[in-house]
Amino acid sequence: MTDMNNPLEDWSKGVGQEKMLINGEWVEAENGEWLSVENPAHKGIEAGQVPSGGAIEVDKAVKAAANAFKSWKKVPARERGKAMLKIADALEAQSEEFAKLYTLETGNAIATQSRGEVMLTADLIRYFGGVASEIKGEVVPLGEDLLSYSRREPIGVVGGIIPWNAPLALGALKIAMAITAGNTLVLKPSVEAPLTAIKLARICSQFLPKGVLNVITGSGSKCGQSLLDHPMVDKLSFTGSTDVGRAVMKSAAQKIIPVSLELGGKSPQIVFPDANDDVTVQNVINGMRFVRQGQSCTAGSRLFLHESIFDSFLEKLVSKLKAIKIGDPLDESTQMGAIVTKTQYNTVLSYIEDAMNQTGARVLMGGMPPKEGPLAEGYFVEPTILTGVNPDWRIVREEVFGPVLVVIPWKEEEEVIRMANDSHYGLSAFIYTHDMSKGLRTAHEIESGFVQVNQGLGISPGNSYGGFKQSGIGREWSLEGMLESFTQRKSITVNLTY
Ligand code: NAD
Repeated sequence: MTDMNNPLEDWSKGVGQEKMLINGEWVEAENGEWLSVENPAHKGIEAGQVPSGGAIEVDKAVKAAANAFKSWKKVPARERGKAMLKIADALEAQSEEFAKLYTLETGNAIATQSRGEVMLTADLIRYFGGVASEIKGEVVPLGEDLLSYSRREPIGVVGGIIPWNAPLALGALKIAMAITAGNTLVLKPSVEAPLTAIKLARICSQFLPKGVLNVITGSGSKCGQSLLDHPMVDKLSFTGSTDVGRAVMKSAAQKIIPVSLELGGKSPQIVFPDANDDVTVQNVINGMRFVRQGQSCTAGSRLFLHESIFDSFLEKLVSKLKAIKIGDPLDESTQMGAIVTKTQYNTVLSYIEDAMNQTGARVLMGGMPPKEGPLAEGYFVEPTILTGVNPDWRIVREEVFGPVLVVIPWKEEEEVIRMANDSHYGLSAFIYTHDMSKGLRTAHEIESGFVQVNQGLGISPGNSYGGFKQSGIGREWSLEGMLESFTQRKSITVNLTY
């Protein structure tokens, strides 16, 4: 039985079994199987369990969503927005419980990461609730005797799939964009970290009619693939890796349905010689998302330092990173927690090991984790900095999705732009200089969808966010993103002389 109402003190023992939401009912999988969600800060300890859903549950959820769509699309947009505002308030009222559960399932530090993501999530839901009445069309001036106008109509049943790295905010994003726009949703969180998304669904189900939001859990290959292939799904919205994104696009192509893809990245951070200061060092640390263990799609994991400041900037960076406290993510003084799963931990280590075995590579700090002591109790990896890297190495080209930063020197502006753009990804970028014309010139040359100059922050509600190149298709996080990705235009012309 689910034990989500445990006092917070007991949560380190895990939250027991949580169910799926289908047509307003909380259900187990028909096969009776459960999947374990590990607490990454304590190897071998369970954070909870979720049903191992598959094609049967996907079918039920999609049919429930299709049925609910008939009436939900007719609810005035402002009313749909009001439901979102209530959900955001209810989430905020339980923010500490959400932060603890989030810490338990993802291994993120509660003080530096989990609480912030909960508040961002409330903000995100509130943003879409607030702009609901902007889902409007236009009048086209075709002539005095014609009334020609357009409507923004919802698309239908949305299949939403999210990854484990920001499961609460990304779950909320799909819910808020799809449902505010009048669609109904079948959401599939990652089995690695599904618990806060389900807890959010518990709140949503108090304010939304049954079938408008359905949440199914299961493996990507069975549950996720069944959702992609279901004939009654009208739109796919996927956040995850570029490889799975390709499979999502293939399924969408079979049915000719719209698809939004928010995929991976290997983003550059470019430091000009005039930005060799402590503020930029902190911005680079923020941009690399070290306190999220580097597990962010927007992580600036390729640092380009001008050769004139290469050594002195790195000295400051290493000294600041060495002060970061890693450990038990529920401890208030911890700044950096654990890698989400054993699999991901092993992937990160294989990248580090591979790079360390290359001739010329230098590990300035971090590297392979300790085999004993408190950090060996969970999937902890220290901030790792590598220099002497070759642009062709895997660690420079591929997304590690861990706290691993490669540092590359540069001489000329043209050269650094070329190196920064030498990637099949194009998600985010960070540029640091006090010379604003240089900063903006570089920002315009960079092939990325989300660029920041002189700060290393995350995405804010209202940013039209999405990737260039193989980092994705479509935009989310903003009103325009919701309109473009979750509505379809209908053009209606009336002959007034009739
Ligand atoms: P992943 O692609 O392995 O999995 C993402 C989701 O897809 C999970 O729910 C998984 O179960 C599901 N899935 C896997 N195989 C599937 C299949 N064949 N059919 C349907 N669904 C399937 O990614 P991950 O490891 O969970 O997350 C990390 C990746 O997500 C990174 O590449 C990261 O950059 C990316 N990401 C991108 C953004 C963005 O906004 N661009 C945000 C967060 C994470």
